[in-house]
Formats: sequence, structure tokens, C-alpha cells
Amino acid sequence: MTKSMCITYFVEDSLYVNITNRCSNRCDFCIRNNGDGAYGSESLWLLREPTSDEVLDSIFSRDLTAIKELVFCGYGEPSYRLYDARKIALAVKERYPELRIRINTNGQSDLILGCSTAHLYEGAFDTVSISLNSPHPDEYDRICHSKYGVLAFSSILSFASEVKKYVPDTRFSVVSEFISSEDILECRRIADELGVTLRVRDYIPPAP
Ligand code: SF4
Repeated sequence: MTKSMCITYFVEDSLYVNITNRCSNRCDFCIRNNGDGAYGSESLWLLREPTSDEVLDSIFSRDLTAIKELVFCGYGEPSYRLYDARKIALAVKERYPELRIRINTNGQSDLILGCSTAHLYEGAFDTVSISLNSPHPDEYDRICHSKYGVLAFSSILSFASEVKKYVPDTRFSVVSEFISSEDILECRRIADELGVTLRVRDYIPPAP
């Protein structure tokens, strides 16, 4: 495994931010199983976690007027550093109030930080995208291997219903190759019930 200090990288017209490699899941379809980077980036395995100032320096070294969205994603679960991510996002918004900021999360920040976290997303993030992956707790556990076991699934649902009060653009996502069409319908039903949208995305294949 190669390591680097690749903090920001482009995915089409968005700038992605990599602040941690920590994650509470070990998903079967995780992009990290495919190699060291994504979308032609350097290795996203970090030599160490960057400080908030280092993250801001990396973000502001880019032409933010040319991007559509700033996305906290990384090669890990960004909510492990939710307080830092919030501080960074607010600093970016101060200079670029029109820039949309999204956080891609596994939805387990309440369990990770041991408290209710939904309010911490307010004002900092325009979109919260939560990987749902399955409508069934046991199936979620089988493919995502959360360190919190089957508790993870119910926590994700309660997080989604809370965070959408603070961030109206809250979405679930599923990976089309890892879910049946019946289960996509069931995920849509859960999303409708909670008042969030559902995005069915494609798997990112291994680099050739
Ligand atoms: S939650 Fe995301 S980063 Fe973590 S293992 Fe799953 S796909 Fe990978």
C-alpha cells in the first residue's frame, strides 16, 4: 500500500476532500478494496490525518470558482472528524458562500461520536448523502460489516430522520450492483417514509 498526503482531488467538476482513513465499516464494495486511489488521484491512504489548517490550505490552493461542489468523502468515514469537517466547511462558506458542500457518510456519526450529531451538519453542509446499501439490518451487516453490528442500521435510520431537519437535502444512496431491484424498491419506501430521497449509483470498478 502506497501512502501520500493527497488531501483534495478532482472528480469531474467537483473537488473531493480526504480527511481521514478511519471507518466503522468494512463494506464489500468499498472503493478502497480496488487500489490506493480513485478517479486518477494519488494514493488516498494518508501518511497521517491532515490538520484543519492543512485541509483549508489544500482547498484554497484550488480554483473554487471552477467547481460545482465540494465533497467531504475521503478514503474513510469523514464523520470521525465531524467537528473539524464542520469547522473547515464553515470557513470555506465564509469565503465562497455560493459553493455547495456535500458530505458523504455511512450515517453512523451518532455511534462514532457517542452523541446526537444531526445538529452539527446544519449550516456547514448543503447535502448529506448517506450510504444505505440495504433495507434489511441483517443484510446491511452482512455486506457492510459495521463494528457496531446490527445496531448500525437502526442508528442510520434515526440519524437520517434527524439530520434532514437540519439539512433538507438529505439523501440515501445504494450501489446498484449490490442490491436487488426488490430491495431498491424497499429502500425507496424507507426513504419516502423518512422524507429523504434515494440515489441508486453505479459501482466504481477496479482500475485496469
Ligand atoms: S463506509 Fe465507505 S469508506 Fe467505509 S468501508 Fe464502506 S464504502 Fe468504504
